[in-house]
Amino acid sequence: MTENIYDITIIGAGPSGLFAGFYAGMRKNKVQILDSLETAGGQLTALYPEKTIHDVPGYFAVKAEDLVADLVKQTAQFGVPIRLSEKVVDITKQADTGFYEVKTSKTSYVTKAVVIATGNGSFAPKMLKTDEPSVFDEAKLRYNVAEKDQFNGKHIAIAGGGDSAIDMALMLEHVGASVSLIHRRNEFRAHESSVDKLHASKVDVLTPMTIRNISDHKDGLMLTLSNDHQLEVDTIIVQHGFLSNNKDIRAWSVNLKMNRQHFLVDKHYQTSSDNIYAIGDTASYEGKLGLIVEGFKEGPHAVNQIMEKIQSGQLKHAHSTSMF
Ligand SMILES: Cc1cc2nc3c(=O)[nH]c(=O)nc-3n(C[C@H](O)[C@H](O)[C@H](O)COP(=O)(O)OP(=O)(O)OC[C@H]3O[C@@H](n4cnc5c(N)ncnc54)[C@H](O)[C@@H]3O)c2cc1C
Repeated sequence: MTENIYDITIIGAGPSGLFAGFYAGMRKNKVQILDSLETAGGQLTALYPEKTIHDVPGYFAVKAEDLVADLVKQTAQFGVPIRLSEKVVDITKQADTGFYEVKTSKTSYVTKAVVIATGNGSFAPKMLKTDEPSVFDEAKLRYNVAEKDQFNGKHIAIAGGGDSAIDMALMLEHVGASVSLIHRRNEFRAHESSVDKLHASKVDVLTPMTIRNISDHKDGLMLTLSNDHQLEVDTIIVQHGFLSNNKDIRAWSVNLKMNRQHFLVDKHYQTSSDNIYAIGDTASYEGKLGLIVEGFKEGPHAVNQIMEKIQSGQLKHAHSTSMF
């Protein structure tokens, strides 16, 4: 019976869950990762597979989907199962053992500890709203890009003023697209160095501007902007951010303290329930940053805490060459 009991079950196969899974596997825990989506990688796979990431240690620049492929490979070397298309619908605590029963859309598992790495829950892009009602071929409006090279030689409008809009504009300019960036304010909510790169690039920056109307035009679209200027484009890509919800998670039987839709954790990333930890975007604490690197730090810390508790008396692991 104990053979079927997991030491650690990680919920979420985004970067935080994958790296925590790798670390737990390397430390010889019986660990599994569950994810409701069909593919691993969380936001990187679902929302920005082609985007270049510049702030992951050790990489000068890495495409999101390549980082995910490396994380999956790193996790797989210790035989950690990544069970996809398996949504966690409930977690209950067993009264006799103190272990947790994790119920999914397919089956249920018993585990000594849980690491929640569910990001912001299920996510969907914020839709574009034009100033006037618009009717056009919606296949030419996108929220995500799967193969950037297809935009070589095309005229692309990008709507948005955050990091993802600027990154997308620079990325498509780099593959030979002619890019117009439309933003309703003059100021961008993006890293300063990205804004500098944008202004040094050939991207046509149209601010402060909204899109009044979109209509079909030849094989593409005609955008009418708030200053009456008209822009003929092949495609418009909207990068206004994402709406996410953790409503399903709030229905779990274990009653975990939340800060809006994130789990409140202590300095060891433990939630208000013993042996349930939360890492990555879903963890809430003072000073938390929504960056991939944060989850990479939090996962090993949580795993060490769990090991110390469940393997009674085992010390926190430091690297054998650690200096004191
Ligand atoms: C457009 C965009 C660009 C970004 N660029 C950068 C960047 O350049 N650098 C950077 O550091 N960060 C960037 N970020 C932020 C970064 O993507 C997040 O910080 C990171 O994805 C968080 O990883 P995570 O593993 O905690 O969560 P996520 O990546 O959100 O993964 C959570 C996983 O949990 C799964 N899940 C949720 N609920 C359940 C459930 N009930 N059962 C089973 N599975 C469930 C989801 O399906 C998902 O796969 C960007 C974000 C966006 C949206």
